[in-house]
Amino acid sequence: MKNIAKENFVLTLGPSNKAIERVPSGSTVVFESFDCFSNKIQSEDQTFSDIGWDDVNPATGPLYIEEAEVGDTLKVEILDLEIGDQGAMTTVPNAGTFAKTVNEERTKIIPIKDGKAVFNEHISLPIDPMVGVIGTAAAHEDVPTGTPGDHGGNLDCKRVQKGSTLYLPVNQPGALLSMGDAHSNMGDGELLICGLEIPSVTTVKVTVLKGQEYPLPFLVNDDSVMAIASAETLDAATVKAAENMQTFLVDHLKMDPIEAGMFLSVGGDLRVCQVVNPLKTVRVEVAKSVIESYNYTLQ
Ligand code: CA
Ligand code: CA
Repeated sequence: MKNIAKENFVLTLGPSNKAIERVPSGSTVVFESFDCFSNKIQSEDQTFSDIGWDDVNPATGPLYIEEAEVGDTLKVEILDLEIGDQGAMTTVPNAGTFAKTVNEERTKIIPIKDGKAVFNEHISLPIDPMVGVIGTAAAHEDVPTGTPGDHGGNLDCKRVQKGSTLYLPVNQPGALLSMGDAHSNMGDGELLICGLEIPSVTTVKVTVLKGQEYPLPFLVNDDSVMAIASAETLDAATVKAAENMQTFLVDHLKMDPIEAGMFLSVGGDLRVCQVVNPLKTVRVEVAKSVIESYNYTLQ
């Protein structure tokens, strides 16, 4: 099993990416990742400006998958996700949802003890690890790893977890998969500007699908299927994610578009992934049992 060390990382996803490792389709690969601060914030005396934006969101990779050709789909099954024993949060003054009131630098180091993130003396959150940045090389330009898009990237979708499967586009030969920016916990929205940022070791199985046309990025876990979309505004992201799920229902379950729209209005859930990145991200979720009731099997 190939293991990609965290020192092999990129800060953009796109045409200039050079593969650090190559595997055939169907391989299992381990990605070790820094936290989003390149592991440079280890105490509450350090602040975000000590590292600055240049070292933020390193994504381990890129991994070249041998059969992947432009136009294919890359299936990424997250088999395991381990996190470190301490996470960090920082403010970024005058940025994020609380820009009006969060106007000074502060760092919080949060230990993980007995499966819980000890936020303060009152609050301990059961850990719920997720991968914030995961993507293939973008099609036309190098996209910073802090930005989400159709190629994945900084989706900050808290359902990208152990046991989930993420489908991504192949925009460049070999797909060039990279990932990092794990969070032990993150609320939908990621309101301040960060999750509980933590180093990670992610084990994935990568499979190239030929002739598969899910609207991407598409995510599946034990109970739901999800269309994820990013855009300049939440309104635009909402329309895109909803249309993508409608397209899935039309193309794969053979609903007509109006039936699919009616169903999504009563049986689909719009949820916010994040509102603090350069593009905003939402997802539309549908119960997996609906897919199964059509005897449809996901590839
Ligand atoms: Ca992120
Ligand atoms: Ca993060």
